Amino acid sequence: MHPFTYTRVSDTREALNAARRGGRYIAGGTTLVDLMRETVERPEALVDIGALPLDKVTVTERGGLRIGALVTMSEAAAHPKVRTLYPVVSEALELSASAQLRNMATIGGNIMQRTRCAYFRDVTAACNRREPGTGCAAREGFNRTHAILGTSASCVATHPSDAAVAFAALEATVHLLGPDGERRIAFADFLLPPGSTPNREQALRQGELITAVEIPALPRPLKSGYLKVRDRQSYEFALTSAAVALHVRGGVIREARVAAGGVGTVPWKLPAVERHLVGERPSDSLWTAAAAQAAQGARPLQHNRFKVELLKRTVERQLRVVGGTK
Ligand code: SF4
Repeated sequence: MHPFTYTRVSDTREALNAARRGGRYIAGGTTLVDLMRETVERPEALVDIGALPLDKVTVTERGGLRIGALVTMSEAAAHPKVRTLYPVVSEALELSASAQLRNMATIGGNIMQRTRCAYFRDVTAACNRREPGTGCAAREGFNRTHAILGTSASCVATHPSDAAVAFAALEATVHLLGPDGERRIAFADFLLPPGSTPNREQALRQGELITAVEIPALPRPLKSGYLKVRDRQSYEFALTSAAVALHVRGGVIREARVAAGGVGTVPWKLPAVERHLVGERPSDSLWTAAAAQAAQGARPLQHNRFKVELLKRTVERQLRVVGGTK
């Protein structure tokens, strides 16, 4: 492991000062420490923010939820408000990683986690995300688990977070604190598709700290849930996943929020599916027709063509489960 300094801070001002001097934030460390061991990441200085007061889940004035960046995945998943208002978030978290990791990893770290592309983690392989300008070993290599949506010539890696798919579906907001003060950014703008700069993964400015993720108030009743399809039943990343939230009143779908995971370079919102649902009455034929829109724009690679059909079926199944016609 590359040598580094370690500082534990107790307030946000201290954290921002340490980051200004080049420090890298660490909380649960479940991704970063792994990557440091493999020398994929080589920070000179770590700033431990684990003691900052960012560990609460609160109901916002408008009736949404604000989840502090240092709330652990297991705390967020078990929180009564998260479970009752947004079960899609609880389910996405509970289907992630292992119980031990969920007890350590934080919400802020979860949305910051880096890709599981095996070539990214192999420091001998060409990888534009790890070493800009070196190429992409996955394009011509084994790319079964890679993305079919949002890819570029530079990178085809998926974003691994399940919770991020739920946040994208619900149109959450990320709260940030930096040298220039606080700001908010829509979740859809927070994680960046690779384009020609896959090494730039988030719209964070130098030294900025994630303080919370806020889920907006949505009309009630809201039914939601998360489906994850993977090679084995636990401790595995998604081949495809679907986060669905539906507001049905008077027998008609008034609001629909749908996003997919395991298929995009970022969590992939599905506006065409949403548009197909709104104003319609739940039915099996509706779920099938809406899900048929899910893979619009897909560009599969040599080994992941199966994801096009799997994505549609994943979305259809979860629409049926949440929509109540299963
Ligand atoms: Fe690197 Fe992205 Fe290519 Fe994987 S897909 S090798 S992360 S550039």
